[in-house]
Amino acid sequence: MNRTYIKDLKNNVGKTVSISAWVDVRRDHGKLIFIDLRDMSGRVQTVALPSNKEAHEIASKVRSEWVVRAEGIVNKRPEKMISKNKETGEIEENGDIELELKKLEVLNEAQTPPIDVRSDGTEIGEEARLKHRYLDLRRPRVQKNIRTRHKIIKYVRDFLDNEGFTEIETPILTKSTPEGARDYVVPSRLENGRFYALPQSPQQYKQLLMVAGFEKYFQIARCFRDEDTRSDRQPEFTQMDLEMSFVEREEVMALNEKLLVEIVTKLYPNKKIQTVPFPRISYKEAMEKYKSDRPDIRTDKNDPNLLAFCWVIDFPFFEKTDEDPLTGRSGWTFTHNPFSAPKPEHMPMLMNKEKIGDILTTQYDVVLNGFEIGGGSIRNHAPEALKKVFEIMGYPDEQIESNFGHMLRALASGAPPHGGIAWGLDRFVTLLQNESSIREVIAFAKTGEGKDLMMEAPSEISEKQMRELGIELRKKKK
Ligand code: ASP
Repeated sequence: MNRTYIKDLKNNVGKTVSISAWVDVRRDHGKLIFIDLRDMSGRVQTVALPSNKEAHEIASKVRSEWVVRAEGIVNKRPEKMISKNKETGEIEENGDIELELKKLEVLNEAQTPPIDVRSDGTEIGEEARLKHRYLDLRRPRVQKNIRTRHKIIKYVRDFLDNEGFTEIETPILTKSTPEGARDYVVPSRLENGRFYALPQSPQQYKQLLMVAGFEKYFQIARCFRDEDTRSDRQPEFTQMDLEMSFVEREEVMALNEKLLVEIVTKLYPNKKIQTVPFPRISYKEAMEKYKSDRPDIRTDKNDPNLLAFCWVIDFPFFEKTDEDPLTGRSGWTFTHNPFSAPKPEHMPMLMNKEKIGDILTTQYDVVLNGFEIGGGSIRNHAPEALKKVFEIMGYPDEQIESNFGHMLRALASGAPPHGGIAWGLDRFVTLLQNESSIREVIAFAKTGEGKDLMMEAPSEISEKQMRELGIELRKKKK
C-alpha cells in the first residue's frame, strides 16, 4: 500500500491507509493503547484495540522514537473526544481524526533518547542539544525554523532569478588577505608551508564576476571568520550575497528593500513592517539620537510581530587605529569594507589623501529591530582609488601588490561601476522566527566556542596527516 502523509489523513476518512512515522508518545491503558505518530508533515493519534491481537501486541512494545509503519482505518472521532487546544479552544491538528490500527510494523527501534525531543527544548541545556543535534532537530519548533529558512532562501532565489541575477558559486579554498577578521587557514599538502584561507565573504570574487561581465550575481554563500568567542556568532555563517554592475547606491537599496518587504508580506502575513520605505538614518544621527549605529527604532518593543527596518548611511570611511606603543603613532583602517568607494563628492579627498577622518563611504547597512542584518556599498572600480585606500592604511607597495595585485589588475581591465550587499541570513531568519539565537535556525550549529559537539570538531589529526602537510606543533595551546 502506498504511503500516506499524516497531513493528508483528514482527506481519507473511512479509508484504509498506510503511514510511516516516528512514535511520538505511547499511552497504554491496558485494553486500549494510544500511540501518537509523527512524520515530516504532522502528528496523529492512533489506537490499537485488543480485538486486533497482533497489532495490539506490537503496540504494547513500541517506545518513543521508534520508527514504524502503521496500517489502519481513518476514523472521525466522536464530538466529545475531539482534542482542542487548552488555551485557544481551537481543534488541534488532526484532533478530530484517529487511525485505528490494523497492522503495525517496527522498522527500527530506538534507545531511550537522552533529551526530550517533543518539548520546545528551552528547558534543556544547549550543550546536550547540540551534542545530540540529530535528535534535537526532531523537535517541531526547530523543524519549523529549518523549513521556514528554506522557504526564505527559495523566495530570495526565485525573486533574484526573476530580476535577471545568476547564482554563481565561488571558491571555498582561497587566499588569505586582510579583510577585517582573522582567516581560517588550510595547509597545502602539495606545497608545504603554503596555506589556503577560507573566505570571510565572497567580496573579491563577486567583484571579479562584475569585471567578467556577469552584471548581476548572487549566492547563498558560506563565510568563515575566526573571531574570538561571542555567544551569538558562528565561525561559519551564511550570507545572501549579491553584486550588480552599472548601479548607484539607490538602486541596490531599492532592490533589497523590495525583496525584504516581499519576504515579510508573503511568508509572514501576521507581521507588520513599521515603515515603508525604510527610514534612512545617517551614522551621525544614529549615534547622536540612538547611541548606536544599529538603532532599534521600534515604536512598540513588546510587539513580537513588529519589524522596524531602517537604513544607516553616510558612515565614516576610515577610523583611527590604536596607538602603536613603540612609536606613539596611530594609523587608519577602514570601518566596513576596504573595497567601498567614498561618496562621489568625497572622492577628491581620498585621491589627495586629505581630511581622511571626514571622508564618508557609500556604505549602507540595513538594520532590523536593532540588529544589523546586512550591509554593502558601491565599490571603487578605478584601481587608483582602491590603491589609495590601502596607502592610507599604511600598506607598503609590495604588500598591496602581494595581497591585492589581482584586484588592481582586474579593475584595470575594463571594470564596470558596481556595488552590492550581503545579508546575514542566519540573523535575519532568527529575527523573523522570533528566536533569540542564530543556533536555533542553523541545522548543525557550533557552540559559542566554535565547537561541533556532535562531530567533536575541531579534533586532532593523525601523525601521518601532519607529516604530509609538513606541520609540527610548536606547543599545544589549551
Ligand atoms: N562583503 C561584505 C561583508 O561581508 C558585504 C558587501 O559589502 O557586499 O560584509
